[in-house]
This record gives sequence, C-alpha cells and structure tokens, in this order.
Amino acid sequence: MKRILITGGAGFIGSHLCERLVKKGEDVICLDNYFTGSRDNIKHLLDYHNFESVRQDVTKPYYAEVDEIYNLACPASPIHYQYDAIKTIKTSVLGAINMLDLARDTNAKILQSSTSEVYGDPSIHPQIETYWGNVNPIGERSCYDEGKRCAETLFMDYHRQYGVKIKIVRIFNTYGPKMSQNDGRVISNFIVQALKNEDITIYGEGEQTRSFQYVDDLIDGMMRMMSSNVAFTGPVNLGNPNEFTILELAKMIIEMTQSKSKLVYKDLPMDDPHQRKPNIDLAKANLGGWEPTIQLREGLRRTIDYFASIV
Ligand code: NAD
Ligand code: UDP
Repeated sequence: MKRILITGGAGFIGSHLCERLVKKGEDVICLDNYFTGSRDNIKHLLDYHNFESVRQDVTKPYYAEVDEIYNLACPASPIHYQYDAIKTIKTSVLGAINMLDLARDTNAKILQSSTSEVYGDPSIHPQIETYWGNVNPIGERSCYDEGKRCAETLFMDYHRQYGVKIKIVRIFNTYGPKMSQNDGRVISNFIVQALKNEDITIYGEGEQTRSFQYVDDLIDGMMRMMSSNVAFTGPVNLGNPNEFTILELAKMIIEMTQSKSKLVYKDLPMDDPHQRKPNIDLAKANLGGWEPTIQLREGLRRTIDYFASIV
C-alpha cells in the first residue's frame, strides 16, 4: 500500500484519480481548498478506510509522510482562473514549491499536472514536447499559462539541484462526468445548454480547434507516468489527437441530445488559441504503448448521461 497525496483531489480530474487509487487499495490523502472542487465529488470515498480528505490551501506548507504526490491543485477553466489571477499564479508557483519541498523531505516521487496551455497559441501543429510555445506573458490567460510554465521550471530545477524524482504531464482538453455544471469550459457549457434547450454559446466563428480526451484515458496515462522508469521525467503530452472545430463539437452535441438549442455567436476571448492537437509519440514510446481508447462520441455519450442525471 503506497501513501499517495493528491492536491486538487476534489476537482474534476482529481476526484477520478482519488477513486481509481482508493479502489486499487492505495492509502490516499486528498488535499483541496474547494475553490472549484466539491466535497460531493469525493463523498462516496469517505467511508473507505484508505481515504482521507484535508481542507488545505496548497500555497501554504503541508506535511505528511508520503510515497507519491500528484499535484493537481489549480483552477483550470478560464473563467475561474481569471477570477483571481494573482491567486492563480500563487497556486501554481507557491503550490509547486511547497509540494516539491515535501517531495524532497519525504523522498517522494512527484507528478505535476501541466497543460497544453504552455504551448500558447501554437505555431507548430500538432504540438510536440520539444516546442517551446508561443505564450503572451502579459495577457488575461497568462496567470495560468505562465504559472504552469514556471511550475515546470521549478520541477526541472528541483530535479537537477536536489535530485527530486519528478514527472511532468502536459494535459490536453479533458472532459467527462464530474465536471462542474458551472465550470465554464466548452463541453460542460454545450451539454448543459443543449439539455436545457438554451442557446449554445460559440465564441468567435467556432473555427478554432481542440482535441478532446476522455477522463479515464487521462487517468490511465497519469498512473502509467507515475510508475514509469524514474529516468523518464517528461514533460510528456497526454491527450487525444482527434481534432474537432468548436462548431463541429456543438453540432454533435445538439444531435446527440436531440436538442432544440440554437447557435449564438459571442466574442472570442483574448489570446484564445486557434488550434490544438497533441503529438503523443513520446507517451506511446515511454508509457507502455499508452493511447486514448475512448473517442469523442462515446465519451460525450457518457458525459451527457451524467449531466442528464443532475441538471
Ligand atoms: P478543477 O478546477 O475541477 O480542479 C482543480 C482543483 O484544485 C479543485 O478541486 C480546486 O478546488 C483545487 N484548488 C484550486 N486552487 C487550490 C489551492 N490554492 N489549494 C488547494 N486546492 C486548490 O480542474 P481540473 O480540470 O480537474 O484540473 C485539474 C488539474 O489538471 C489542474 O492543475 C489543471 O491545470 C490541469 N489540467 C486540466 C485540463 C483539463 O482539460 N481538464 C487540461 C490541462 C491541465
Ligand atoms: N468556447 C466556446 N463556447 C463556450 C466555452 C468555450 O466557444 O461556451 C470555446 C473557447 O473559446 C475555446 C474552446 O471553446 O476556443 C475551448 O475552451 P475551453 O475553455 O473549454 O478550453 P481552453 O480554451 O482552455 O482550451
């Protein structure tokens, strides 16, 4: 039984990870300040003897003897991370420092949930890990993008300077059950709007692309990364390379929900990337042939079933 700390464990991805590790029999601590996460996401785990939850802010030091740390604490949706931009940077940077100090002190392995946003509005397509990105350092998305980039720097420096065992995954747009209804990201917005027969809000012309990964595939990739060869630090992309325009996504969701919703066009947010698609060759080669197994239509069906049960 490994002692595993998951920061941001009450959020969308974190709660799936908590569940998988608890059911595997590991000793799991979920640390969260419930900013965008919810106790509802983890309440079914509270009866397990190998699960505990701690209300704590990752910007403050925390100590527990652990073997592995998954560092996920950080709001991930643009509306939430821009709500208090300075807090978002502190969460990424101070959170990384606090968790890396803990990893160094307890000799734990630590995995950082980084993001495709480190590539910014990419000029290389699909995005490969060696690409350094095209990020605006002073825009409205910068608190998130630059915070995550700085966290990657800290991970590499703790590794080089102190020999901390690190892992960095760059997560591409991930969706699935347990996203918050008010999350603000495109798939949850469109599904909730379609189920309520409300207008579907397309930002810009809807020609921008994203590649959507179902959450179970991501969790599988993260767990494989944690147990991969210690010399393989990443960064490694985890995403589904099937690419769609936002308009295609909206039409698919309307069709699958048999919704009467109409499309309405709103302003494109500042610095919204035009295209995004991962190259996953590095993950395939180093994570035992890992690749996504759940394609968009099947993942949407599961996610629509989830939202239909709560809206
Ligand atoms: P989420 O908002 O559902 O989860 C984030 C969790 O972190 C929440 O439970 C929140 O309450 C917690 N949190 C935020 N600030 C905190 C703080 N200061 N102290 C303690 N807890 C704090 O988002 P998610 O989609 O589950 O994302 C999880 C991680 O994965 C984030 O680090 C995000 O950057 C990364 N990521 C997600 C995606 C995606 O598409 N979902 C893509 C790239 C990267
Ligand atoms: N988007 C949209 N309507 C919405 C929410 C998002 O058209 O109601 C667009 C958004 O502008 C972006 C894409 O969908 O181009 C993905 O947005 P999301 O916030 O999910 O993720 P990110 O921009 O971080 O990839």
